[in-house]
Amino acid sequence: MGRADERAGRSLWLVNPAHAADAPKISPVRQRGRDFYAPNSEDLRPDEMRLIACGTGMPTARPKQAASCWLLELGNGDKFLFDVGTGSNERIAAMQIPYNFLDKVFLSHLHTDHFGDLDALFVSGALAGRQRPLRVWGPSGETPERGTKYALDHLRKALTWDLDGRKGLTDPRGYRLEVNEFDYTAMNEVIYEENGVTIRSFPAIHSLDGPVSFVVEWSGLKFVFSSDTYPNKWFIEFAKNADLAIHECFIAVPSLIRKLGFTPEAALTVGTQIHTAPEAFGKVMSTIKPRQAVAYHFFKDYDTTPLVFERIRKTYDGPLSLATDFMVWNVTKDGVRERMALVEEHTWAPPMASPPLSPDMADRDAESERLGWKIGYSDFIGAGKLDYRDVIEPIYREASEVLGREMEYPTE
Ligand SMILES: [Zn+2]
Ligand SMILES: [Zn+2]
Repeated sequence: MGRADERAGRSLWLVNPAHAADAPKISPVRQRGRDFYAPNSEDLRPDEMRLIACGTGMPTARPKQAASCWLLELGNGDKFLFDVGTGSNERIAAMQIPYNFLDKVFLSHLHTDHFGDLDALFVSGALAGRQRPLRVWGPSGETPERGTKYALDHLRKALTWDLDGRKGLTDPRGYRLEVNEFDYTAMNEVIYEENGVTIRSFPAIHSLDGPVSFVVEWSGLKFVFSSDTYPNKWFIEFAKNADLAIHECFIAVPSLIRKLGFTPEAALTVGTQIHTAPEAFGKVMSTIKPRQAVAYHFFKDYDTTPLVFERIRKTYDGPLSLATDFMVWNVTKDGVRERMALVEEHTWAPPMASPPLSPDMADRDAESERLGWKIGYSDFIGAGKLDYRDVIEPIYREASEVLGREMEYPTE
């Protein structure tokens, strides 16, 4: 169903090449092409894009599926995150990309299942080597309080305690948020244009005014992300000719009732009016005819998938992916390849782009001066410290010897 092979006119019923009479007699453990994507193991071609699903599920993130998050990598080296939903931060980390290159986030709307891990990406990304601000693009709202700028100004305030405590202790360069709020009513207008990449937005219809869909165009390829939306005329207009088109596709109404305990009334409203029902998803894709259609926003289990699939197939018979986390698409003008990523659970953050700046306690003193409040422990809490100098000071001496320079034991 909808694999590159099918588009190339080759039936999936072809005999497995390994069964062919002239198949080479190779050892089964000899190196051969992989049918999975191993992070940090493949360069993109200059004209190729790779999309990785880092969250495809529901607001209640679960081990198998985080909430909405899509990592788009381009052959020119650029990388973009579309949504950073709850639970997605660890999936981003699993892709082993230096954090300096994970500095551009496009938020489709302000539901937590689409931006709930932004705080984690902001702080942990800076800790792990993002040496520049985190740049975030997101829509305005019908009032200023319902826009991205308001949300992120307050998110930044919510992190006051976290960020104050880090002053003077770590490289300070990553702990800055750059917020680019754009008009949610913009109709396929450019919101980003750098390095040959153009990103446009147009309105989505979901919950309240504000949500948007994105179109990315680069090197003759087009990627579209609907985010959450009721089927709408703008998607039909602006998603046309997409190479890869992601559109939400909600859990089928019977599963909402049976698995999530919704009342029939609530299931019908949420499953068909606030979101896109599978039958409606199929209708959208039959109209825009992408090279590859991607459905997301449902828990993809053995007992929910058949219902979603059957209902989509009532209205759409083209190339289709039912997304789950760690699904990967490589897109070129020649074809679309879909695989699963193989994730190494013990992965550490990749090397930093350049050496970190050494922290400077003078930064903490300067900030204390500015605040008129001394950053650090009060006398009350400080007095609770045990005198463990006898075991800690030798660590400083050891470091001084190994490094060949004096590492000073703190006097306070
Ligand atoms: Zn939503
Ligand atoms: Zn959602």
